[in-house]
Amino acid sequence: MSGVTDEDADVVIVGSGVGGGCVALSLASSGARILILERGERLPREPQNWDPEAVFVDQRYRTTDVWYDGAGNAFRPGQFYYVGGHTKLYGTAMFRFRERDFEGVAHEEGDSRPWPVRYPDFEAWYAKAEQLFGVHGAAGEDPTEPPRSSPYPFGPIPHEPVIADVFERMRARGLRPAHMPAAIDFHPGGSCVRCGTCDAFPCKIGAKGDAETRLIDPALAHPNVRLATGCRVRRLIADERGRRIVAVEYERGGETRRVSARLVVMSAGAINSAAILLASAGSTNANGLANSSGVVGRYFMNHNCTAIMAITPWRANHTRYPKTLTLNDYYFGGTASDRPLGNLQLLGKIQEPMLRGTLPRAPKWSRRWLAEHSVDWYVMSEDLGQADSRVQPRGDGAIVLDWKRSNLRAHRRWVDTAKRLLRDIGFPVVLSKPFGTDTPSHQCGTVRFGDDPATSALDPYCRAWDHDNLYVVDAGFFPSSAALNPALTVAAQSLRVGAHLQSRLHEL
Ligand SMILES: Cc1cc2nc3c(=O)[nH]c(=O)nc-3n(C[C@H](O)[C@H](O)[C@H](O)COP(=O)(O)OP(=O)(O)OC[C@H]3O[C@@H](n4cnc5c(N)ncnc54)[C@H](O)[C@@H]3O)c2cc1C
Repeated sequence: MSGVTDEDADVVIVGSGVGGGCVALSLASSGARILILERGERLPREPQNWDPEAVFVDQRYRTTDVWYDGAGNAFRPGQFYYVGGHTKLYGTAMFRFRERDFEGVAHEEGDSRPWPVRYPDFEAWYAKAEQLFGVHGAAGEDPTEPPRSSPYPFGPIPHEPVIADVFERMRARGLRPAHMPAAIDFHPGGSCVRCGTCDAFPCKIGAKGDAETRLIDPALAHPNVRLATGCRVRRLIADERGRRIVAVEYERGGETRRVSARLVVMSAGAINSAAILLASAGSTNANGLANSSGVVGRYFMNHNCTAIMAITPWRANHTRYPKTLTLNDYYFGGTASDRPLGNLQLLGKIQEPMLRGTLPRAPKWSRRWLAEHSVDWYVMSEDLGQADSRVQPRGDGAIVLDWKRSNLRAHRRWVDTAKRLLRDIGFPVVLSKPFGTDTPSHQCGTVRFGDDPATSALDPYCRAWDHDNLYVVDAGFFPSSAALNPALTVAAQSLRVGAHLQSRLHEL
């Protein structure tokens, strides 16, 4: 092979997002030589960060990679490759999953899979993750909220007037809206200026609790931790018995390089990690690494999501940071259904350029008017893992993402219920649009963990059943997707794994 340069590290972490960042920070004080290989670069702080034209119309930060769906149609996926991973663009909603999410939930179209751990195993790690990300929230409002051993690190982000009004109207209907748990630096002395963007925008001033600022930079303060950007991992190399990973192969500046390690931690995101493991197939692991169960690349889940614009023609909505309200009364069905429906939460404020793709023929003034008069919502339901919902690498390095949708009847019922509710509380016009399949924002499930090596790729500490020194800590480990935003759960488990690895480092 041309241009191979051998390097050596104790620990190689692939990907600098939530999972990789939490493990790097957990192991930083161990003194082990840790190398983080990140495909992207640091996302520049620049005026375009907050410009909807640049972010949504020009797609300035989206990868230019081409992927294929199950029918062979090419698309440009909603993937963002930067130091900090998808949290550079994320919406800062930092939810704990509910206790029942860990136990397996009966849905209209099937049951979600139980986790090999339960909420009490996670509670302390959720608390630690909230501290690291600086989460704001209010305990005791949400009827589905799991028990907490400590308060939120910061009090709730206050509602702005239009949202405070919605909150009260929901309460007057007997509902229990809650302040949304959010990781922005908004408190006395904090740096957030409520810029009016946030969700799906990078933060120009570093006030978003993302994996770069909260995990990677603090880990890099330790001299034994190194970040190498522009390094795209292509495959892992196992020893001749196929039991241990001996090296990670990556491309940098057109050159193929290898680094050997005692411990390899994959965290390239649920889709890329699965693709890399499958692309690493060799004579001893013909189905790919960590894949004697055959589950790697299968059971891909995202969420079923729909955006709603609730419009009051006589009132403009000048809210700067609307993501302060969520509603979980129907999460497990409530009064509307005997089966779970999902979560309702506010989206970042929709602006005119974001509507261009959806309403290309409408005059600009009408799109602007809609955006000025809407309160914008995100309706989310659980996606159920299915064996034929798959990620597969192609020989040319592209990815086939064949997402088989599930549980859509419940999602449609939830959208109808939410729209009715919004009309009832005073929005005469309520428009909706499902999110497309090209935006796998909440991707998970492709390298699931479990108790049984026959049906899972990873053990309850995310160690590959097949390889003693390989861990996978991105959202690929999820056995089910729940119906809440995933980042805090990725963080909690990868902190738990990081603590476990501290005690194992000497034996690896
Ligand atoms: C627009 C948007 C909004 C979101 N909003 C929210 C929200 O409000 N709340 C929430 O909980 N979640 C949200 N999410 C989801 C959240 O960001 C993810 O769940 C979380 O980042 C997953 O962490 P991860 O470690 O699994 O992967 P990532 O954070 O995606 O990290 C993967 C890392 O691996 C790198 N990488 C990929 N391939 C390679 C390779 N071959 N070699 C080397 N490095 C590689 C990537 O560049 C990246 O840095 C949002 C996502 C998006 C896209």
